[in-house]
Amino acid sequence: MPQLTYSGRVTEPILLPATDPHLDIRNLPKVSLHDHLDGGLRPATIIELAEAAGHELPSTDPVALGEWFRESADSGSLPRYLETFDHTIAVMQTRENLVRVAREFVEDLADDGVVYAEIRWAPEQHLQGGLTLDEAVEAVQAGLDEGVDAVEAGGRLIQVGQLITAMRHADRGMEVAELAVRHRTSGAVGFDIAGAEDGFSPARLADVFTYLAENQFPVTVHAGEAAGVDSIRDALVHGRALRLGHGVRIAEDIDVEFEAEDSQAADGGSDTEVGMVSIGQVAGWVRDRGIPLEICPSSNLQTGAVASFGEDIESHPIDLLYQTGFQVTVNTDNRLMSGVTLTGEFELLAETFDYDLDDILEFTMNAVDAAFLPLEERDALAAYVTEGFNQARG
Ligand SMILES: [Zn+2]
Repeated sequence: MPQLTYSGRVTEPILLPATDPHLDIRNLPKVSLHDHLDGGLRPATIIELAEAAGHELPSTDPVALGEWFRESADSGSLPRYLETFDHTIAVMQTRENLVRVAREFVEDLADDGVVYAEIRWAPEQHLQGGLTLDEAVEAVQAGLDEGVDAVEAGGRLIQVGQLITAMRHADRGMEVAELAVRHRTSGAVGFDIAGAEDGFSPARLADVFTYLAENQFPVTVHAGEAAGVDSIRDALVHGRALRLGHGVRIAEDIDVEFEAEDSQAADGGSDTEVGMVSIGQVAGWVRDRGIPLEICPSSNLQTGAVASFGEDIESHPIDLLYQTGFQVTVNTDNRLMSGVTLTGEFELLAETFDYDLDDILEFTMNAVDAAFLPLEERDALAAYVTEGFNQARG
């Protein structure tokens, strides 16, 4: 792995050809903190539910439909990307369908080796079939519970919680926050805002975040994806975010200048470049206070969130953030639209940045620490994850 250094220095990532072929990431116990319910349906399920609801799709072939979702997400066109959610949300408007989608979501996560997941969705977008906000949350919880039971019946374990999202450009923030708090003992573990980041600061919802803080209810805020460092500052100041949804553009508050290092070192003098790192005030706050970043590598490339760093995964700032000591977690965002799994994202990172089992464990433990769970449950999860990684070491 690249050398991890502090004191303002970071080595340039060394790109090695391939990850350890024996590294079976899928079977490692993993933690998923940023995964949208309406972004992770099975194509075959969408087709079946759309047919029953009379909703027209771009394709009724599961493979072709899956491909359409990925192409749309990759198209660089925001309207086309947003259209993908029209189709998933259209088939998630009844109790029966929400139960099914939530159940399958949990089963798919477990198949991918996820042992703890916080699943986010915006109940306000699922009322067109006549459900109330509470009924929608109850339906999703019933599906999540069914999924957990099915996974257990199959001999594995998974624990899940709901992150209740409010759409930041809409005006139901307080209603949704109260909904989340109402369900804190029946599945809701945290609150999130999503939607148009640029131009819709959490300051608009200041009273909502005050209410949540007064109720000690955990908050993550989508920030540092479609907007930069100022948006992250707003998430921390006005949103009182305990985690940052993406947060990846915090890297814009870090300067790295690479220069050749004097090669007369005691190790025989390999020819290396070192980066001198200077960290801005907001980035310093996020790093030094250990505020977790919910990084979604493939999604970040598709949405252009990291375009200022380059177009390829090699230039994604996740490695810079990791090496300079940020609390980085790895996530999927929208598995259907991006055509990814958490295993796949780790494989991509392992190949690109030569991460090994220890790195994957560190990312996973960061996610365990960042989970909106009581300490005792985080400790138990940490022990379970450690045990799984130890088994993988053989
Ligand atoms: Zn997201």
